[in-house]
Amino acid sequence: MTTFPEFDLDPAILAAVEKLGFESPTPVQAETLPPLLEGRDMIGQARTGSGKTAAFGLPMLQRFKDGGSNVRGLVLAPTRELAIQVAEAIRSFSKGLPIRVVTIYGGAPYPPQLKALRNGATIVVGTPGRVIDHLDRGTLDLNNVEMFVLDEADEMLRMGFLEPVEHILEALPEERQIALFSATMPAPIQRVSKKFLNKPVTIQVESSELSVSHIEQFWIRAPQRRKLDILLRILQGDPHGATLIFTRTRRGCGEVADGLTKNGIPA
Ligand code: AMP
Repeated sequence: MTTFPEFDLDPAILAAVEKLGFESPTPVQAETLPPLLEGRDMIGQARTGSGKTAAFGLPMLQRFKDGGSNVRGLVLAPTRELAIQVAEAIRSFSKGLPIRVVTIYGGAPYPPQLKALRNGATIVVGTPGRVIDHLDRGTLDLNNVEMFVLDEADEMLRMGFLEPVEHILEALPEERQIALFSATMPAPIQRVSKKFLNKPVTIQVESSELSVSHIEQFWIRAPQRRKLDILLRILQGDPHGATLIFTRTRRGCGEVADGLTKNGIPA
């Protein structure tokens, strides 16, 4: 088993990782850290939950540990929630380093983002549309980017972001390191990898490691109109303790919460 101190990481990064309670690298981290620390391009087939944020975040911080007010790292995430989550994770790994992480995403006002960019960002985490907007307005300069991460590339494709992503890739300097993460590798993603990545190392985590063994998983096929009823029956059955429910849309989220509350389950 590998341990974090075996990697060539700054003491501040090791301390942050230890403080977060990470005892040993996850399989994705154990495989991605060496090539990324060497500066190689990489394609990682890994899902959320595999520890991939630290897998690219730690090498990024190692490279940028001396800080700088130019944007040296750019991470693209498909959604605003993911961008926020990735930025928070990177901030938590960078405690004690002179690194500023700025998040830019759509659906939010420009002034705070502009101010944050003007104050100097070492790493920008953003969604493709808003990153392009800032590029077009001249408020984001990618000329000094040393490392670029495309997170959840297949989700980007599914959401119709492939074109903006290519546009951003074209705006990067010739000399840069790229890490592309995707749970699946559809043809358009393979084409983008071929076009923009330089002799990438490919890392694939066995699918059995992508789910957590102590969590039992099952699914129920249900028509839309019966979903609440079935959910109530599950929740009113065996005691479950606290429960997390994910829905596809904001509206659906409200409807489920209302339905549960009306039936005596505070949500
Ligand atoms: P991610 O796949 O990057 O979203 O990470 C999933 C979760 O695993 C996050 O809550 C991380 O904080 C956590 N995590 C990442 N790496 C490790 C590690 N080496 N040991 C324990 N937890 C970790």
